Amino acid sequence: MSLVETVKNAGIVGAGGAGFPTHVKLNAKSEYFIVNAAECEPLIETDKFLMRTRAADLVKGVDMIAKELGADKKYIALKAAYKTEIAALEAAIAEAGSDIKLHKMGYFYPAGDEQVIVCEITGKSVPERGIPLMVGAVVDNVGTVLNIVDAFEGKPVTDKFLSVVGEVKHPVMLSVPLGTSVRACVEAACPTISNYAVIMGGPMMGGVHDQEEDIDKLVITKTDGNIIVLPKDHHLVRWAHLKSESMKNRAKSSCIQCRMCTDNCPRYQIGHDIEPHKIMRNLYRETMITDNDEFLRVFGHAMNCCECGACELFSCPMHLAPRKANVYIKSKLRERGIDVPKNMEPQERPDREIRKIPTNRLAARLGLSKYYGKHLLTDEPIVLEPETVEIPLKQHIGAPSTAVVAVGDKVQKGDIIGQMDEGKLGANVYASFDGEVIAVTDRVVLRRESK
Ligand code: SF4
Ligand code: SF4
Repeated sequence: MSLVETVKNAGIVGAGGAGFPTHVKLNAKSEYFIVNAAECEPLIETDKFLMRTRAADLVKGVDMIAKELGADKKYIALKAAYKTEIAALEAAIAEAGSDIKLHKMGYFYPAGDEQVIVCEITGKSVPERGIPLMVGAVVDNVGTVLNIVDAFEGKPVTDKFLSVVGEVKHPVMLSVPLGTSVRACVEAACPTISNYAVIMGGPMMGGVHDQEEDIDKLVITKTDGNIIVLPKDHHLVRWAHLKSESMKNRAKSSCIQCRMCTDNCPRYQIGHDIEPHKIMRNLYRETMITDNDEFLRVFGHAMNCCECGACELFSCPMHLAPRKANVYIKSKLRERGIDVPKNMEPQERPDREIRKIPTNRLAARLGLSKYYGKHLLTDEPIVLEPETVEIPLKQHIGAPSTAVVAVGDKVQKGDIIGQMDEGKLGANVYASFDGEVIAVTDRVVLRRESK
């Protein structure tokens, strides 16, 4: 079976982001294959753990994928400060006789933005709202590559490694079956507070949840790699509740047009047309602009925002919310049916190097210094074996998969329970332990087989 078919059958999606089905991404030819191992948001531990503990598999996977893509330039992009991980990878590369290069980066945000990584390595900027393949590169993260290696050993995606950090006794690494409740993950990490909020992912782009009934419903999916436990009154939790109207009123009254949001914007720095200070300046008259051409001229560039949060959580001295403004304007552009043209040949700006945001200063600005620099004490993960799991039929970009099991069915770990519809963008879903199906909704609920 071809690599693309194997990846498709194993239900592999991007393990660290929005969950784009990997078989679609790999059905291409490219000059570069790059592993994104930068893990640029503060506090996350998972990719470092995987590089330390599965270096040989990672090297094997990179060589295999690059061969499929016809990519003769192979890179693993990571932080120069990851000494242990670099040593493990260098040994694995030497052992395999591979020509993979390690691209060592500084501690800056967003080193893990794939468009930034592509610019760092190839010197080329990806077109606005484009993909790395448009400049000859394919980028996958560490977990995705390892899932591909596992797929060749007959193992579909059934489990996740994820770190739990923040208000916990100490950061831990968990190994859990897909569909495990987030509550169980937090409890396994010994939270130091009882009334907590969680961020699923990193502090900049992760989803914030502070309502008890909301947290109760959260389960681990293929794209989760980190949970941050925080007090409910933490700055990041309160920030998540800032409403559109307040955001607009604050912009009207307090934006001093200093341009810091624009000058520090990573997408602006790789040459994209995006100037959030101009959006902020014009926000007050958004509802007054009736002509779509005028709306496009004034607000069109908001479409190029990748929502990394650097502008509002780091750059703005007035604590304003340019990212939220861009998200709001993007929805208005879509509502009006305005098609925003793309610059297909953006050029990196000369200031990019000095505009990189140091991660330690970012952590301080986010109110996370208390947790920053605390790493795992051991490379032995805590293995959770919950009695039940609730496995969502949609854990990826595209259409949900269709349940192929019914209540009462017995399944074994690795059995297909959700089938992607042929011809649609999607991914298969598999049972994450041996057990019985006890409910089928938009999730398949499994109860573990008693031993
Ligand atoms: S950084 Fe803040 S104050 Fe400065 S231009 Fe941007 S939104 Fe306005
Ligand atoms: S969130 Fe802010 S910094 Fe990030 S791409 Fe959008 S405008 Fe630029």
